[in-house]
Amino acid sequence: MGPQRGELLRQELEISTFEDLLYHFPYRYFDRTKLTRIGDINSGTEYAQVAGTLININEEGTGRKKRLVATLYDDSGRIDLLWFQGAQWMAKNLKENERYIVFGKVSLYSGYYNIAHPEIELLNSETAAAGMQPVYSTTEKLKIKGITNRSFARLTAALFERLHAADIVEIFPDELLRRYKLCSRYAAFRWLHFPDTDEHERLARHRLKWEELFISQLMIARLRLQHTAQPGLRFEKVGDNFNDFFSKHLPFELTNAQKRVLREIRQDTGTGKQMNRLLQGDVGSGKTIVAVMSMLLALDNGYQACIMAPTEILAQQHFLGISALLADMGITVKLLTGNVKGKARKEILQELANGTLRIAVGTHALIEESVQFSNLGLAVIDEQHRFGVGQRARLWKKNDVPPHVLVMTATPIPRTLAMTLYGDLDVSNIDELPPGRKEIKTVHRRDAARAGVMEFVRKEVDKGRQAYIVYPLIEESEKMDYESLMAGYEQVKIWFNENKYRIAMVHGRQEVAERERNMQRFVKGEADVLVATTVIEVGVNVPNASVMVIESAERFGLSQMHQLRGRVGRGADQSYCVLLTGNKISDDSYKRIKIMESTTNGFKIAEHDLEMRGPGDMYGTKQSGVLKFRLADIVQDSAILDQTRVAAQALIAQDPGLTAPQHYGIRQMLLMQGRQSHWGKIS
Ligand code: ADP
Ligand code: MG
Repeated sequence: MGPQRGELLRQELEISTFEDLLYHFPYRYFDRTKLTRIGDINSGTEYAQVAGTLININEEGTGRKKRLVATLYDDSGRIDLLWFQGAQWMAKNLKENERYIVFGKVSLYSGYYNIAHPEIELLNSETAAAGMQPVYSTTEKLKIKGITNRSFARLTAALFERLHAADIVEIFPDELLRRYKLCSRYAAFRWLHFPDTDEHERLARHRLKWEELFISQLMIARLRLQHTAQPGLRFEKVGDNFNDFFSKHLPFELTNAQKRVLREIRQDTGTGKQMNRLLQGDVGSGKTIVAVMSMLLALDNGYQACIMAPTEILAQQHFLGISALLADMGITVKLLTGNVKGKARKEILQELANGTLRIAVGTHALIEESVQFSNLGLAVIDEQHRFGVGQRARLWKKNDVPPHVLVMTATPIPRTLAMTLYGDLDVSNIDELPPGRKEIKTVHRRDAARAGVMEFVRKEVDKGRQAYIVYPLIEESEKMDYESLMAGYEQVKIWFNENKYRIAMVHGRQEVAERERNMQRFVKGEADVLVATTVIEVGVNVPNASVMVIESAERFGLSQMHQLRGRVGRGADQSYCVLLTGNKISDDSYKRIKIMESTTNGFKIAEHDLEMRGPGDMYGTKQSGVLKFRLADIVQDSAILDQTRVAAQALIAQDPGLTAPQHYGIRQMLLMQGRQSHWGKIS
């Protein structure tokens, strides 16, 4: 390939070496023998590959609405092909009365099937070649320069003519290949580009997925090894603070799950190694008290402790709650957030630095450079999924010896994701709710039934309960959302006689002070109804609130709805969640709502969420790059993930430094990957 086109390839697809080209895998194959007859296309056909003669190539419309329409027919029927972009270019290149092979997504438009922007090529001797032909992704720019998905096939084929098996060196020892029935690395690349059979393609894909997941599991295993190799703080004893609190100030009896987790934390912090523990517990399972008692344990051993929350409101709430719990014991707790400024801030910073302040509650403000602790022993991070992985790492730098870290999340992380994302952390589960909780009743209602819903809410409020009415406001800047929230607020004021019921509102566009004031009114029971956006999503705790109405529920994700629903059902009363949607909603929305109706189990919901959305979207992992696999999919390939985890752990146990000669290739691979990703910074 000449320098110009080469440069374009680099810019467009980051392909500049033979290796890059090898990793540019085909996204499908086309097999001339697998044709659909045009007449057989029906409403169940999603994608189709058809062959036929092209006629009636016409440019229609003008200016920006210009498009190209052509018709392809075979002996069973005809179908329209459409181009909205690059119409001119296509018009120049297509020839009437020639035979073409076409692939694309079938849609139905006013009674006729069509394929928009199909892959299309002349049927000639090359396309007629036997076997499966690889189809590669390309870009518009490359296409214009004549680098089509077919060109890639030629490039790759030319590459394989030059390559010998020895050029793609095997990185796995023979024993591992045999044990896990993996084909050689060379065969894998060759067969993935040019499979001679379906079976070879499957083997190739399996081998390369296996390799990807294995390398990522090895990184995790090594990270874990690092945690445990470093010295950590040793909490030697359970002292007065912990014991006093336990015997005199606990407001309720701990659940067995809470006790078990506390034992796990005590054990962990006593070993002299740094604790890195993920505490999972569904909304309302009582994680806060576990955090508080763990902090007391730090105090008993002469250390400071802090707890960090993702939002101002949550930090505030933790501050109030924890201060109240510890007030009788004479332990001072202070709040550090972005809003604490001037003299107050200076004072807190001083007290943290000289060690007189033992417990700090706060937001991200706690991990700013300017905040120095005298001897931080434990950092609790609440609702971890809101924290970037990088931020977690900054805590480490607060001490010479890294503090123990307890990460808490109410968004249960599906097993496969946890293995990939938090595989270096130990996991504790609070799998039991405090006694006396009633299952939240969840129902789906459509707009048409709104009057009945509001009537129901009013009746609950008349019994002395409180209610949330939540609107979607995904982006605070979205004008439409803001307007619908305001319109909703006006509506609520009408449904609920303003003179009789007290209504408060919180949303992200309010001044923080105003938002806090309104929130506090609801927390203190001075407001009956809280109209809100998702700013209340995480952690807010008002046990007297028993009704959650989610407006436009079709727009919410599963985890988000679960979090919101978790705001009720915290007291002894029967609680309700009403999912209000438009009269017409998409299949996906309907599915999510049915899942919400069918279960309150956070783990089940998280599994469904992962299935429906895919891992990339979840838990802010997109930007972290941790889950960027080329071929593997941790949901679909969970069996491979399990295998590789076991294999990686076994390998690290046997050869921690990977110094044995047969592990040379693996080690090189690991080094290379480590440089490319952000793994070093995680946890
Ligand atoms: P989350 O795990 O969602 O953070 P919280 O720690 O906020 O849950 O606890 C939810 C509610 O349950 C709080 O009102 C808390 O006081 C209460 N709670 C926690 N543990 C128990 C328990 N063992 N018995 C009774 N109530 C409890
Ligand atoms: Mg909480």
